[in-house]
Amino acid sequence: MKLSGWGRYLSAESQPLFFRDTASLAQQVRGCIPLIAFGNGRSYGDSALAANHLPMQQLKRMLAFEEATGLLTCEAGVLLADIVESFLPRGWFPMITPGTKLITVGGAIASDVHGKNHHIVGCFSECLDHFLLMSADGSIKRCSRRENPELFHATCGGMGLTGVIMQASFYLKPVRSSTIEQTTIKTANLHETFAAFEEYQGQPYSVAWIDCLARGDKLGRALLMVGDFAEDGNLEYRPGGTLNVPVDFPTLTLNSFSVKAFNAVYYARAGSGVSHRRVGIDGFFYPLDAIRNWNRIYGKRGFVQYQFILPKTAGYEGLKQILQKISASGMGSFLAVLKLYGPANKNYLSFPLEGYSLALDFKMQPGLVELLAELDQLVVEYRGRVFLAKDATTGRESFEKGYPNVERFRALRRSLGLNQVFNSLQSQRLGL
Ligand SMILES: Cc1cc2nc3c(=O)[nH]c(=O)nc-3n(C[C@H](O)[C@H](O)[C@H](O)COP(=O)(O)OP(=O)(O)OC[C@H]3O[C@@H](n4cnc5c(N)ncnc54)[C@H](O)[C@@H]3O)c2cc1C
Repeated sequence: MKLSGWGRYLSAESQPLFFRDTASLAQQVRGCIPLIAFGNGRSYGDSALAANHLPMQQLKRMLAFEEATGLLTCEAGVLLADIVESFLPRGWFPMITPGTKLITVGGAIASDVHGKNHHIVGCFSECLDHFLLMSADGSIKRCSRRENPELFHATCGGMGLTGVIMQASFYLKPVRSSTIEQTTIKTANLHETFAAFEEYQGQPYSVAWIDCLARGDKLGRALLMVGDFAEDGNLEYRPGGTLNVPVDFPTLTLNSFSVKAFNAVYYARAGSGVSHRRVGIDGFFYPLDAIRNWNRIYGKRGFVQYQFILPKTAGYEGLKQILQKISASGMGSFLAVLKLYGPANKNYLSFPLEGYSLALDFKMQPGLVELLAELDQLVVEYRGRVFLAKDATTGRESFEKGYPNVERFRALRRSLGLNQVFNSLQSQRLGL
């Protein structure tokens, strides 16, 4: 079957490997190479693509929950959406969640995903107690910060290259409402955007939508959204209805004029200064999930989401330069998201470091791959890196400069024979 990541730019002919139980999973792992686990295909590029893939949603049982501590044990193919639906009405919510709930627990660990609260709580691995990992020979290891710590730190953020995560135990957080008290701050330029992030950094959740096509003294103008769970005791939750994009949009629909117009309207819609309102958790955390197959709006050739992070010291200057380049190229998207991050963790390939990241979509078009290579150069010059869960084009050299622990990761893979079995198009491109 033909398989692609969420960006639909890269695809591969890939054989699905089905299994009934641990023994048949071990048999598949030992017998089919190269192979990679496939969660729900929400990584944008080629990290879950290989000649053989394991559709992990075959493992989707919730196994145990400790009411006293919030510790949930479930199989790796369970979706965050199922966890929210089952546990929010009981007063629990994922401690760390990315901008879509349509991802598996295994995918959350393999990408060590971050949410709008990274500056306060860090990546998904922070709420992990332990997980079970199937190795290249079919044996199963329990991994935590105490048991097999090397494998733990390599697997969190390791993009499926250290084995198959079978089940995980992780903490949910107690909440008292299914709504969020949201404050929106409208800024006029990048200076104001940075100042607003700093001013509101005590808020548990924050994210900014940025107009990446604005130029001159409007460069970096944004809507910063911050907030926290309300305290009203209303835990009613009905997942939002979904609209669908039924077909690929014609390639011409999205061009620099339509994107510029969209950005101007979106920015103008928010009142000036600071405004407050209460919103549902789906609208706050998962706005894009409301439109099924929204990736089709970029047309048949697909798109790339480019997400990079820069350390705080380089943040303003670096971001300004990169935004200027994107703005001048006219290729930027209407979805550009700026986030504040807390300190990096010990995981070998985890993305975050203390600073700011920008994520934006680029429709696949002539000249794009070259532009992204130029952006990669700038990112590493400013001591930043790109996010592997979004990456589809980064070259080996830029990647290595951004991830100083890559040799430890490679050495571990070699020592356990993992590099003989677990490989994706991305791992081959990056020499992992
Ligand atoms: C709209 C949208 C918003 C997003 N927002 C964010 C965000 O805010 N923050 C963020 O960090 N990410 C974000 N992402 C990226 C997304 O969280 C990650 O790509 C996530 O890993 C996808 O999970 P998945 O289950 O779909 O995995 P897939 O895309 O299928 O796989 C991703 C990686 O995980 C590996 N993997 C999956 N399951 C297993 C397993 N059981 N064992 C071993 N390896 C496994 C795969 O091999 C692959 O390398 C967003 C994605 C979308 C589409």
